[in-house]
Amino acid sequence: MVTAPSGTGKTTLLKALMAADPRLRFSISYTTRPPRPGEVSGKDYFFVSPGEFARLRDAGALAEWVEQFGYGYGTSREWINQALESGQDLVFDLDTRGAWAMKESFPQATLIFVIPPDFQELERRLKGRGDMDPRELARRLEQGRTEIKEIPWYDYLIVNQDLHLALEQLRAVVTASRCRAARTWAGLEALFTSD
Ligand code: ADP
Ligand code: 5GP
Repeated sequence: MVTAPSGTGKTTLLKALMAADPRLRFSISYTTRPPRPGEVSGKDYFFVSPGEFARLRDAGALAEWVEQFGYGYGTSREWINQALESGQDLVFDLDTRGAWAMKESFPQATLIFVIPPDFQELERRLKGRGDMDPRELARRLEQGRTEIKEIPWYDYLIVNQDLHLALEQLRAVVTASRCRAARTWAGLEALFTSD
């Protein structure tokens, strides 16, 4: 589960991570936010209307959901079940509230926080993306300032200064998560305990 202030480079990092590891599957969330240029429904998000979002929420189809920047964001329960059945490792892009909600349901999950080298750089990157008006930009920066207070509760912190180094660290965290004793032992125990 990966959290980062908007503009950090999380999407860039996750795309590179997913491209190099077919055992990973990205949890595609539902959102009422309009697509940004280049974003595709069913790949980046499932882009839905507020009415459809409310219907999914009320039907219990969302494992967690939040309202932020005036839009709804929610994790698909169905998507999680499919990935778990197929034995793939799920990667979630969540804000801090979503990460805590999901950690309660999946205590084995690894929580990763990604930050830029400093706040000025965050502002530069967010502005440089050029896809939001000044009000939304200010809201996202403010939200970033609030979210970084939660860093001490996360398992790993990656500083996205050099993209290649940050990606290498993210891959290392994925490897470490796969080597957790509880997870590895669950698949091996029978081999060691049978007569
Ligand atoms: P997020 O998903 O966290 O909001 P994006 O992946 O959209 O962020 O990245 C925000 C901007 O920062 C993009 O223009 C991206 O190309 C740029 N960026 C990402 N990582 C780096 C980096 N390590 N150094 C410089 N720019 C970066
Ligand atoms: P963006 O609009 O930049 O794609 O995402 C805004 C914020 O929503 C980011 O912090 C991202 O991590 C978060 N987010 C995306 N999908 C979900 C989701 O399904 N649930 C929650 N709680 N947050 C999400």
